[in-house]
Amino acid sequence: MNDEMLPVTLDDPMQFNCSPDNPCFNQCCRDLNQALTPYDVLRMKNAVNLTSGQFLQKYTSRHTGPGSGLPVLTFKPNPATGHACPFVTDSGCSIYSDRPGSCRMYPLARAIAKDRRTGENAEYFALIEEEHCKGFGGRGGKTVAQWLKGQDVVDYNTENDKILELISLKNQIRPGNLDGAEEDIFYTALYDLDNFKIQIQEKGLLDSLDLPAEYVENVVADDLSLLNFGIAWVKYQLFGKALQIQD
Ligand code: SF4
Ligand code: SF4
Repeated sequence: MNDEMLPVTLDDPMQFNCSPDNPCFNQCCRDLNQALTPYDVLRMKNAVNLTSGQFLQKYTSRHTGPGSGLPVLTFKPNPATGHACPFVTDSGCSIYSDRPGSCRMYPLARAIAKDRRTGENAEYFALIEEEHCKGFGGRGGKTVAQWLKGQDVVDYNTENDKILELISLKNQIRPGNLDGAEEDIFYTALYDLDNFKIQIQEKGLLDSLDLPAEYVENVVADDLSLLNFGIAWVKYQLFGKALQIQD
């Protein structure tokens, strides 16, 4: 059987049942080459109580996207384990409640496109039927929408869509490669949040901007605020957009 993509809507039945009883249990967590988003890294580094720098060094591999010049992160390749995810165990995922968005979506693929009439993002889904995955044809008794709700994927899609918009902006304003220093700004502000926080709090990164102290305190108060500021910072630093100061 070749891999197949079957477009589905949110109201379609999800003819899929993933279970530890399936003979393929954990196979989808091996032979990985999945891109990790900034929000994935944020959730995982907190789940394992590491700083972003420690997490990135221990678990991830960074390379530069061909054509975009943007940093792309994956789990560190480990041929000794057949490129298994570092968090897979015999009983399943050891960071299940903080697993990446792509793990939550599998075996669904999701694409977004702006609706020309409303200007809002519209979502499109397809089932990817891969040879190794034996969950197809199972009767989960759920619609696609219900299945997605069970994966608790909404926060991930919301945060990841902001990065897609940032990449789209980059492609409009700066097609082609970023230089190394620009790539580092992108990487630090989005992936290496604890280092970004140190640059703000201890190295005066924002001092020349004369931002209200209360605003800066809110920016560094939690990782999600910091990530959202990181997105605004990249737009400002690399793409010449005014720094949006939000309450
Ligand atoms: S994070 Fe968890 S669900 Fe995702 S590949 Fe690793 S073990 Fe599997
Ligand atoms: S390969 Fe498919 S059915 Fe098997 S554990 Fe992974 S997602 Fe579930």
